[in-house]
Amino acid sequence: MKNKGIVFVVSAPSGTGKTTVINEFLKSHIKDFVVSVSVTTRAPRKGEQNGRDYFFFTKEKFRQFIKKGRFLEYAPVLDNYYGTLKQTVKSNINKGKNVIMDIDVQGAKKIKKEMPEAVTIFIIPPSFRVLSERLKNRKTESEKAVAQRLKLAKKELKERLKYDYIIINKELTEAKGFLECIYSLEKFRRYGL
Ligand code: 5GP
Repeated sequence: MKNKGIVFVVSAPSGTGKTTVINEFLKSHIKDFVVSVSVTTRAPRKGEQNGRDYFFFTKEKFRQFIKKGRFLEYAPVLDNYYGTLKQTVKSNINKGKNVIMDIDVQGAKKIKKEMPEAVTIFIIPPSFRVLSERLKNRKTESEKAVAQRLKLAKKELKERLKYDYIIINKELTEAKGFLECIYSLEKFRRYGL
C-alpha cells in the first residue's frame, strides 16, 4: 500500500519570498507534491490566474462555502478572506501525494489542531529592513497596503516559535536546501525512507 501523503504548511510574512522558495523546491519534487490552491476574496494581482494562483471568489460565494463546510480552515487576512479547501487536502494525501500549502499564521494554527501530523514551517526574512525593502520594491501594492503588510508582519513574526521549523530566507538556494532537509527528515521519521 502507498504511504499517506504528508501535509506541509508554510507561513511567512508577505514579501519574505516564500512563493519563490516553494516553487524552487517544487521544481525537483513536482511528481510527489500537490500545491493547495487557496480560495480568496481579494482581487487578482497582475499576472495571477484563477485556479492556478488562487480561486478568486466573491464574498458571497465564500460565505456559501463556509456554510457548506467546504473549508478545512479559513481566516480573515487584512481586508479579505482566505481559505483552504478540504477536498484538495484530503483527496491528495489519501492518494499518497504530499500537499504543500502557503497559509497565514491563523490558518496554520487551525490546520495543526485539525491535523497534528501536519508539518509547519515558518519562513523569515534575514531582517525587518530587508523585508520592508522587498515589499516596497515589489511594487504590487499601494503605499498604504505595504504599511499594512509590514504591521501585520511584525505581529506574525512573533508566532514563529510555534512552528515545527524555521527557515531564514537569506539566499534562495540555501532556503530551498533547508526545505529539502525538512522533507527528507519528515519522510524518514514517518516511513524510514
Ligand atoms: P497574498 O494576498 O499576499 O497572496 O496572501 C496574503 C496572506 O494570506 C499570506 O500570508 C498567505 O499565506 C495567506 N493565505 C493564502 N492562502 C491562505 C489560506 O488558504 N488560508 C489562510 N488562512 N491564509 C492564506
